[in-house]
Amino acid sequence: MGFPELNGKTKVCGLLGYPVEHSFSPAMHNAAFNEIGLNWVYVPFNVLPENLPRAVSGIVSLNLAGVNLTVPHKQAVMSLLDEIDPVAKITGAVNTIVNDGGKLIGYNTDGSGFVRSLAQEAGFTPGGKTALVLGAGGAARAVAIKLALSGVEKLYLTNRSQAKAVTLASHINKSTGVETVVLPWGKELPSAIVAASDLVVQTTPIGMSPETDQCPEFPFEALHSGQVVCDLIYNPGQTTFLSLAAQRGVTVLNGIGMLLYQGVLAFELWTNQEAPVQIMKNSLKWQVSR
Ligand code: NAP
Repeated sequence: MGFPELNGKTKVCGLLGYPVEHSFSPAMHNAAFNEIGLNWVYVPFNVLPENLPRAVSGIVSLNLAGVNLTVPHKQAVMSLLDEIDPVAKITGAVNTIVNDGGKLIGYNTDGSGFVRSLAQEAGFTPGGKTALVLGAGGAARAVAIKLALSGVEKLYLTNRSQAKAVTLASHINKSTGVETVVLPWGKELPSAIVAASDLVVQTTPIGMSPETDQCPEFPFEALHSGQVVCDLIYNPGQTTFLSLAAQRGVTVLNGIGMLLYQGVLAFELWTNQEAPVQIMKNSLKWQVSR
């Protein structure tokens, strides 16, 4: 991969976050621009929370094409935008901004990226299915809401702090009409519901590198072939949770797909061009394995 040749016509997009040093997005997007010969560049910007309003007005004044948002800006940015896409509004978080001629429009491609990865990598479509989500943090919220908006028939949530799951479940019930039920965390999680779920999504950081021997308590013996089990963690590529699930004959998916497709969707929102998915995937795989 060569460096893009920057000149007066280069379009700039980037990432606003704090910190941003370890992000995989710059290399992934720059590889994609390079691959299809777009005179674009993606730059990481370390933005302290108190500087977010000035950074967002800078998108317009510097004529950036758009940005991604990461921790801790995904919620705070919402009050600074001109328009918010309905999925981002229901999710309560924006991870992508498009600068549409000075109008800043916010989107959330995290949940959509997850659903796209399910389709592309496991041939799974949520319509009419039952899904069980472990966790109730930011990632769980994006995933559960997008699953509800994509037609799952029933959602189960389980989280260490039950109150957080109850708040999320009530929000999903109210905003999407999908029946969302909260289950006890860990040992008490009913095996029958695990067995009846078409999709299980592990969204907590338990088992993330370097604590790769950690695993949420889960009735793995209830899993069976025909189910899809995902862990949003991408480092390691196969968590203990996924290894134990795979032993039951289910289809397993790690978090690289969600990371990839949230980027693919952002790329397409900014450029209105089809993203070179394979190049972006290779970039992520290479970065994750380093
Ligand atoms: P978050 O908002 O901080 O939420 C963390 C969730 O994990 C909460 O539900 C929390 O439960 C639970 N949790 C944390 N430690 C726990 C423990 N020791 N035991 C039981 N539950 C625990 O974080 P997030 O942004 O949702 O991110 C969560 C994970 O998803 C991370 O591993 C992140 O890397 C991954 N992720 C992946 C992608 C991707 O593109 N693949 C995107 C976003 C996030 P409590 O409510 O009880 O604290």
